[in-house]
Amino acid sequence: MDTDVLVIGTGLSGLVAATQAARAGARVVLLDQEGEQDLGGQAYWSFGGLFLIDSPEQRRMGIRDSFELARADWMGSAGFEEHDVWPRRWAEAYLDFAHGEKRAWLHAMGHRFFPVVGWAERGDGTADGHGNSVPRFHITWGTGPGVVAPFLARTKELISAGRLQVRFRHRVDALLTGPGSVTGVRGSLLAPDDSPRGVASNREVTGEFELRAGATVIASGGIGANHALVRQNWPTDLGTPPRTMISGVPEYVDGRMIPIAQAAGAHLLNPTRMWHYTEGIRNWDPVWAGHGIRILPGPSSLWLDDRGRRLPVPLFPGSDTRATLKHLREIDAEHSWFVLNQRTIEKEFALSGSEQNPDLTGKSVRATLGRARAGATAPVEAFKRHGEDFVVADSLEELVAGMNALTGAEAGAGAGAGAGTGARHVLDPVEIRRIVEARDAQVENDFGKDAQLAAIRQARGFLGDRLIRVAPVHRILDPEAGPLIAVRLHILTRKTLGGLHTDLQARVLDATGTPIDGLYAAGEAAGFGGGGMHGFNSLEGTFLGGCLFSGRVAGRAAAAAV
Ligand SMILES: Cc1cc2nc3c(=O)[nH]c(=O)nc-3n(C[C@H](O)[C@H](O)[C@H](O)COP(=O)(O)OP(=O)(O)OC[C@H]3O[C@@H](n4cnc5c(N)ncnc54)[C@H](O)[C@@H]3O)c2cc1C
Repeated sequence: MDTDVLVIGTGLSGLVAATQAARAGARVVLLDQEGEQDLGGQAYWSFGGLFLIDSPEQRRMGIRDSFELARADWMGSAGFEEHDVWPRRWAEAYLDFAHGEKRAWLHAMGHRFFPVVGWAERGDGTADGHGNSVPRFHITWGTGPGVVAPFLARTKELISAGRLQVRFRHRVDALLTGPGSVTGVRGSLLAPDDSPRGVASNREVTGEFELRAGATVIASGGIGANHALVRQNWPTDLGTPPRTMISGVPEYVDGRMIPIAQAAGAHLLNPTRMWHYTEGIRNWDPVWAGHGIRILPGPSSLWLDDRGRRLPVPLFPGSDTRATLKHLREIDAEHSWFVLNQRTIEKEFALSGSEQNPDLTGKSVRATLGRARAGATAPVEAFKRHGEDFVVADSLEELVAGMNALTGAEAGAGAGAGAGTGARHVLDPVEIRRIVEARDAQVENDFGKDAQLAAIRQARGFLGDRLIRVAPVHRILDPEAGPLIAVRLHILTRKTLGGLHTDLQARVLDATGTPIDGLYAAGEAAGFGGGGMHGFNSLEGTFLGGCLFSGRVAGRAAAAAV
């Protein structure tokens, strides 16, 4: 035996599993196909938002949350099916963690939160359906790197103590099996590559390796960068897969380990459940191929489909990710539009990702306080200036002409270049003026029949929204609030909600539901636990949290078993 525990993947779930196992006394080897520069995986790039229930941060902001309310929200969002026995148990256990130990455990390792709690996935407008009844999105002070930091520190300590080894550029190609068991891995040694973090590395094979272990933990992430796999698994109830998608994850999120695990007998649950965003914009300064950034929108932008029709109620920005995706795919819209103005972009546009939030990532109090003052953040302004999806104009007619030029130019050039959208729909400036003016007419009173305006007014009842997230209700065409802005939105691939079927000890199950001896899974590869603890929908901040929780469970269980 080469080691007690072998962990595949140096993303957040792998780092947590490896450090937990090593701290529990096991000898651990941690492998990754990438180099040292990619330590932390996707979590490094993340915004660092974490789902917590009834936290001191929530209470300080006057939010009354409870385990029962959060549980009802989770179950209403998940929509579990009969076969989701382990996913449901994982959801229960995770809720318990998010309500209990999670914050104190992180806090003891030096992790801290930004004091204003965000309100993600505001819901489908029903009390018992999808969505967060209250704000629960806790942003890490230091964003993604701040989430990873405590586990990197532990990793370094354990390496120095001789209890943990990390081997980079080791790509696992197969699991070694015995009867009903996994005994280790076989793989390729990849040539060194010093590309910067997130940039695709070479796949030149320079040798082979084999490692035997008492327990092997798969922490290899999801499938978001593998668009062929995303399309292949596209669920039938979400219409047809989009022709054009942009990538919210680096290329190493390739889904390659999943069939490798299946070949060793592992059961894959809910492969068609995924979490992709509809507010993606092409990064003007890309790191990886097709690099897209998600806008974390406040609720005020007018959301139009590719034909210029307003999205149906209650599909407002930031309300219901999956329902919006479903709607857009059912009408075969390859893109949609936000129409807003300068006043709204300044208050309401945030961009997901550590590098898009240098103030929070760099833990600069002064720069972060700037969010409460007038003006958009520098990265948002840079997108407005350089982003190919942005149109800025002084009049609505000019704006619509710019929107048509954007899609027209692409429809002409795109077919052969692979960048093309579907059918080109010419937007009618007269009709768009009618829609915008009808909406603006509802601003005259503090009450009215427009459900989106009602939602904006109601959101401003929450201090956090009023402070930094939601602009006061105003006319889109108010000349004082200009210029006008349109943003073309693409479908952005991100997360895998299904995954390897695991029990509550993170042991991977075979098709009969029997644990495979020596095989464990954590993080996105395990659908964050059980093969899909989110069911069909996420409440957000639950992915990093899911890595923390399932990594912890897998590491401890693997160490206990050897
Ligand atoms: C921009 C961005 C913003 C996000 N924001 C948030 C947020 O605010 N809140 C939230 O909860 N979540 C967020 N997420 C999601 C979250 O970051 C991820 O779901 C999570 O980090 C996944 O971690 P993981 O350990 O499961 O996998 P990964 O981070 O994908 O790591 C998997 C590792 O396994 C390696 N690997 C794969 N296959 C092999 C193989 N065959 N051999 C060897 N190594 C292999 C890969 O190279 C990779 O390093 C965000 C993600 C992104 C990209």
